[in-house]
Amino acid sequence: MDDVVKLLDENLSYISHEIIEDTLFIRVASEKLSVICPSCNTASTKVHSRYERTFHDLPMQGKKVVYVIHNRKMFCHNVRCHRKTFAEPFLFLPYKAKKSTRLEQEIIKVAQHVSSLTAERILNCGIAKVGKSTICSLLKKTITIDKIHVKRVCIDDFALKKRRTYGTIMVDLDTHRVVDLIPSRDGEDVINWLKTFPNLEIVSRDGSITYAHSITEAHPKAIQISDRFHLLQNLTRYCIEFFKSVVKTNIKIPVTTLKEAPPVNVNHLNIPFAEKVKAANGLLDNGYTFHQIAKVLQMDIRTVKKIVSMSLHEQEEYLMGTMKQSHAYKMLQKEKQISEVRQLYKQGNSKRSIARQLGLDPRTISNYLNPETTGTHASLGQTRPSILDPYAEEIKRYVTNRYTAIQIDAILRTKGYKGSVSTVGHYISKLKKSLFEDRQLLQNAEFEFVKRKEIIPLLFHSKKTKTKLSEKQL
Ligand SMILES: [Zn+2]
Repeated sequence: MDDVVKLLDENLSYISHEIIEDTLFIRVASEKLSVICPSCNTASTKVHSRYERTFHDLPMQGKKVVYVIHNRKMFCHNVRCHRKTFAEPFLFLPYKAKKSTRLEQEIIKVAQHVSSLTAERILNCGIAKVGKSTICSLLKKTITIDKIHVKRVCIDDFALKKRRTYGTIMVDLDTHRVVDLIPSRDGEDVINWLKTFPNLEIVSRDGSITYAHSITEAHPKAIQISDRFHLLQNLTRYCIEFFKSVVKTNIKIPVTTLKEAPPVNVNHLNIPFAEKVKAANGLLDNGYTFHQIAKVLQMDIRTVKKIVSMSLHEQEEYLMGTMKQSHAYKMLQKEKQISEVRQLYKQGNSKRSIARQLGLDPRTISNYLNPETTGTHASLGQTRPSILDPYAEEIKRYVTNRYTAIQIDAILRTKGYKGSVSTVGHYISKLKKSLFEDRQLLQNAEFEFVKRKEIIPLLFHSKKTKTKLSEKQL
């Protein structure tokens, strides 16, 4: 047994051993007469104290091996050394480690080829007791990126914290493995990072100018590829934007007989929710019951009760909820663009050149460069207040009684209105339009509305399963 121990370190001597279940415990002690202080390299022979230090080593005869060293703590005699005492160090055992160097190497050898969970299972049967987090940290210490051999890669941004901080990931196109990550997507950082990979030949990326610029800057000769995913994503987005610019939110079509439409759920009147809210208010004023309203508008009775019990202001807030979702996405896109503009400006591009590169108006660029500009639209969901708002109820009454704009203007003037006649005119025509729509909604059964957002999926999916529209509506 002493010979076995000497293989680990020739200064060790065997004391005793003991087998407990699947583990062999071996007691040893160091025979070295003088020990070198690791801080000042001065030799010391004076022992301060002794303590037991245990560590795992390679298995023997199918048993896990744990060494128990009667480790010495020595005095350091060097008065200039910052240590008064030090523990005897060993070459086979890193400072404070619980595993011998050769065992660590064995663990890494196993873990490199399988997942850390599998490695944990393999190692725990007969090699050493080790957890997956230990395996991971051992691997992290050893893996170095072989930057010389990285040639064909793809880079893309990812969110460390959505809308706040982004990082950049690099994936090897040949091995499909993550090569490296950095906690930034700023031009300067990406350039410096890319420069540390000396042999990049192909870099695939999204459509962002920042990345394109960084790659050109770091590797002018590398071929840049716009990847299919981002090409399609951009194309899809532009198609939707274009479609939205030419088609109304709600499209009026001749009514499709409700009887033949698919049953329940799908069988709702296709009018915007905001319109339903308005109509529900009108019906309630006309003495309809909740049940009747729910039936006419094809809404859930609980929803009807909920919205009509709200004040006008609360109803607006409720409707805002649905708007906010689409707003959030737009905000994200805008913020991305703002940061891109600022990046380009920082890199010394002129406003005019940025405008040209991004296809934006130079005034927008100036606006984006203003540090106070954020992705938020200040005007989201707000209708501008009118100076006629205090007279709203009154005006509604006059309009229903068919007063002309001039008559209404005259009455309001006696009550302190100081605005122009044309303001009254505009206000009334808007009011008439909404009153007319209300009426039409309740009386007109010849038409119904199809939502634009139900049509959009049909641009990309030939299958009708992607839309809520009925066969007839299509
Ligand atoms: Zn010392």
